[in-house]
Amino acid sequence: MTVPTVTFNDDREMPQLGLGTYKLYDEECIRVIREAIDLGYRHFDTATLYKNEEAVGTALKQAMDAGDVTRDELFITSKVWHSHQGEHKVEEAFQQSLKDLQLDYLDLYLIHWPNPKPLRENDAWKKRNAEVWRAMEDLYNLGKIRAIGVSNFLPHHLEALLETARMTPAVNQIRLAPGVYQTEAVNFCREHEILLEAWGPFGQGELFQNPAVQAVADKYGKTIAQVALAWSLQEGFLPLPKSVTPSRIASNLDCFGIELDAVDLEVLKNVSG
Ligand code: NDP
Repeated sequence: MTVPTVTFNDDREMPQLGLGTYKLYDEECIRVIREAIDLGYRHFDTATLYKNEEAVGTALKQAMDAGDVTRDELFITSKVWHSHQGEHKVEEAFQQSLKDLQLDYLDLYLIHWPNPKPLRENDAWKKRNAEVWRAMEDLYNLGKIRAIGVSNFLPHHLEALLETARMTPAVNQIRLAPGVYQTEAVNFCREHEILLEAWGPFGQGELFQNPAVQAVADKYGKTIAQVALAWSLQEGFLPLPKSVTPSRIASNLDCFGIELDAVDLEVLKNVSG
């Protein structure tokens, strides 16, 4: 199937749903990504912190070499973990990600976390994020990254960043799922036209035991995973589901075209997370 896209930034297209790769390693990671590409996934989310960029890169290269997909059709995201690095190190981290992924550009590069522990004293994160963002803007201007964004940023982190930013982040990737609704961050991003990616769209697995979500799924004749993803899409979020299980990788794509009514959208928004 073809995953629908959203347009963002300078008219670029981004598949509305991406495959998460957290905790996918080595041969399993390669298998999952190859299967996902066969099924129609084009958008993959990784990070330096996940320590799997080499495996992701191997899978992408294998798929491209086999003619299953072209680079243009793929949308690849990685993230910089920046707590101990000086400004010049951002480019080094980025180049290492590119090398491990065997790519010559990234579609999206994110600041992974706004305030890692070593940066919490005296709000050191503010200065650090401003420096990292400037380096990312430079990489964007050189054409090495197609879009830049942030992850796990709350409104006060974004406000601080925007004081010195030349570019507004294209994306904020935050934890969002039925029962996990970060209202202030969602509203801030909507006001500033920052796309919201939903990490942990199944509450990192917790949703599957929730009877209220099961009731909504039963009503539509769908699985819990499918209605959770449909909810995310109807909210305008871009969900990043992760699974190692072939049948789930396939069925999770079957979430487009489910029309949840207003009552069920509210039920899902407010279930206990
Ligand atoms: P998810 O919410 O995607 O949940 C993954 C869990 O759900 C796994 O246990 C998986 O099991 C299970 N699952 C998937 N599909 C189904 C299904 N159809 N039926 C039943 N169970 C299912 O959690 P993640 O934490 O992996 O988040 C998704 C992605 O978001 C990550 O992989 C990563 O890319 C990103 N992320 C980003 C963060 C950030 O700080 N920016 C933080 C955390 C995640 P199984 O695999 O066994 O099938």
